[in-house]
Amino acid sequence: MNTTAVIPPRQARLKIQPVPIAFLATAFVVLVCASLLAIEGLRSWSARAIQLHQAEVESSQLVRALSQHADSTLKQVDAVLAGLSEQLELEGSSPVALQRLHKLLPTYVAELPQLNDLSIDDKNGQTLIHARNTQLPSISNADRDYFVFHRSNPARGPHIGTPARSRFNGAWVVTVSRRFNHADGSFAGVVLASVDIIYFKAYYDSFDIGRGGAIILSLDNGTILVRRPFFEDAIGKNMTVFPIFRDATAKNTAASVTLVTGQDGVERLIAYHHLDRYPLFLNVLRSKDDVFADWRTNTYLHLIGSAILALALGLLGWRLIHQINLRLLVEADLLVVQDSLKAINQSLEQLALHDALTGLANRRHFDTALRDEFIRAMRNGSSLALIMMDVDYFKQYNDAYGHLAGDACLQRISQVVKTGQNRPGDLATRYGGEELAVLLPNTSLAGAMAVAEKIRLGIIDLKIVHPRNPAGVVTLSAGVDAFVPVRDGNTPLELIQAADKALYAAKSSGRNRVCSHADAQSAPPA
Ligand code: GH3
Ligand code: MG
Ligand code: MG
Repeated sequence: MNTTAVIPPRQARLKIQPVPIAFLATAFVVLVCASLLAIEGLRSWSARAIQLHQAEVESSQLVRALSQHADSTLKQVDAVLAGLSEQLELEGSSPVALQRLHKLLPTYVAELPQLNDLSIDDKNGQTLIHARNTQLPSISNADRDYFVFHRSNPARGPHIGTPARSRFNGAWVVTVSRRFNHADGSFAGVVLASVDIIYFKAYYDSFDIGRGGAIILSLDNGTILVRRPFFEDAIGKNMTVFPIFRDATAKNTAASVTLVTGQDGVERLIAYHHLDRYPLFLNVLRSKDDVFADWRTNTYLHLIGSAILALALGLLGWRLIHQINLRLLVEADLLVVQDSLKAINQSLEQLALHDALTGLANRRHFDTALRDEFIRAMRNGSSLALIMMDVDYFKQYNDAYGHLAGDACLQRISQVVKTGQNRPGDLATRYGGEELAVLLPNTSLAGAMAVAEKIRLGIIDLKIVHPRNPAGVVTLSAGVDAFVPVRDGNTPLELIQAADKALYAAKSSGRNRVCSHADAQSAPPA
């Protein structure tokens, strides 16, 4: 009989690990990390949209403020021109009247920082007076745009000219002019103001629009007056070819659009606004790179933070999963050990209750079972039977074939005895040496006699040659008794003694037979 419990090798135990919990933990950690990054992505995306919206609002506000500034700058100048033309029409352009005006012009130039110069031309384009007290050579302005415009156009309103160099100091100026008439309504001349372009530039430079940003003030016909960043080549250039003019500015008075502008191919956010009183409009351009600079920095910082957090979570999760796996392995090991212990216990129990040679119940087991079944039979009022058996001439068998052959014979006999054990409570036992017994609960004497006879015949059927047995083969004798035990009247020992007596009777009456206790009573003493 194998009494050692087999412990499975490590590899076999590893296969037992139940993966689902580790898998769930992994999925959970991956899900948490992915959610974290997804939330960060969404947050970043909405922050970008907010940043863009803010930039649009800021640009719209800025372009409106700048157009108001340009409007009022020109309005101040135009108010001076309107006053001068009115005065000229009232007082005429006599030398005395001009003298008076000549004193007035420098005051205006001094008062209005945007004013570069003020002058009055007569109907032939000859400069009558000049705010600057400089004796300019008397040249004719008859061919200048503004003059041609007013001479041929009866409108009394202001006219904004194209940018030009100041004849006085060479600075870039834009002209604002008005016509004045004789009393009969005929053309009398032009009052002209030159406004410093640098004045606008200085103002535009005070705003932060980023490195890729631009501010452009231009006429309705697309002629650029001022541009920031400032470069002289741009002044007077026509921007009708630019998409911003073609697709946006020329169509609405104010709006925000996003276009790819300039030769750099940079996408820019453009806000433009038409001046309320004058035929000019303002554009504020901001490169999207500048607009999203803060957002980009924030996003990088958040991304780094989220990545660190996800990494920490991942590491933590990895550790957790590692621990779970370890625990599962330990649990699996414990289960294996538990199974092994169970097997060992069963083996020990087998060892403790069974006979090693025959595999039948041992004497200790028999004694316990007899006591228990005796009490049960007493309680139930049922019959308890016992068959006691002894191999005939076994000593001679040993002598003839040796002890080992005797052992083998005993094992074969035991297998037959085991067939007498048909019901759960039946117990085939090696009582001692070559004495065997079968305890049969709830069995009558007749029933037990039948079982004993069957065993006896079964032994003969084994046909184990035994020359020193008169039967020629191994046989056994059996003694049987059965009774319903009575409380305080019978003891287990009585059953053994009665069966033993019956066995003795079987032996003494010739062996190879089954005797009951009653047979033993009636048999003559040996
Ligand atoms: P009988 O019972 O018919 O009167 O004769 P017997 O020769 O069987 O006599 P007895 O019962 O006195 O002899 C018992 C013999 O059984 C003695 C012993 O050598 C043998 N025996 C007992 N236990 C074992 C065992 O485990 N193995 C072997 N081989 N022999 C055993
Ligand atoms: Mg014996
Ligand atoms: Mg014997």
